[in-house]
Amino acid sequence: MAMLEVKKLNAWYGASHVLHGVSFSVEPSEIVALVGRNGAGKTTTIRTVMGLMQRASGDVAFDGREIMPLAAHERFRIGLAYVPEERRIVPGLTVRENLKLGLLASDRDINERAAIDEIAEIFPRLKERLDQQGSTMSGGEQQMLAIARAMIAKPKMILLDEPSEGIMPVLVEEMGVLFRRLRDSGVTLLLVEQNVEWALRLASRAIIIDQGEIVYESSSAALLADKDIQDRYCAV
Ligand code: ATP
Repeated sequence: MAMLEVKKLNAWYGASHVLHGVSFSVEPSEIVALVGRNGAGKTTTIRTVMGLMQRASGDVAFDGREIMPLAAHERFRIGLAYVPEERRIVPGLTVRENLKLGLLASDRDINERAAIDEIAEIFPRLKERLDQQGSTMSGGEQQMLAIARAMIAKPKMILLDEPSEGIMPVLVEEMGVLFRRLRDSGVTLLLVEQNVEWALRLASRAIIIDQGEIVYESSSAALLADKDIQDRYCAV
């Protein structure tokens, strides 16, 4: 059974119809890259899956359960997490306090101290900065914090919107190692990326969206090798 099965999604901003029958699926413990040029509909797709669009139709099954009737916070509670492009950490709070927010949003009975210790082991950069204010962290560190906060309640799947954007290369590589480790521990990832090469090296499969429609699906290796398709659909 797929971890995420999306069927015939349509979505609108006001009267503007931006997703036109988007269907795809993601298997458990898989990393899938959703790519496409600016404005193609990537963010809208994951916002629809997360339940954040005011007007949308279609079916989304998550871990065997139909979730379109659920609000975003209910989707989060059943194990679907989302890291938006504009990393929304709380700048006036410390790293530790930001991490606690990720636990508050969950209704799972998780030991706070143990969860923070565990996440600090996974993110050594955060471990050194637990009592530092969010606002004093670099953009890349804030992104790591946003990811850590999404992970702390142990979701089954994480939707990530351009996690590598504006981050220095060394941190991007670190993030790649982390995503592989997450996948190996059983977490499923859907990765929206402009950094196509990086995303394809991480993912096993690639899906291309263009003008609100899925136009291509293949193994990442096949898309990596196909410069024509990349130029046609992935150029910024
Ligand atoms: P980008 O990488 O530039 O964010 P994207 O593939 O994520 O691109 P979306 O953000 O999903 O694309 O946008 C899809 C379409 O919806 C675009 O035509 C965009 O202009 C439009 N759109 C996005 N957000 C809004 C909004 N809040 N109101 C109206 N139209 C929007």
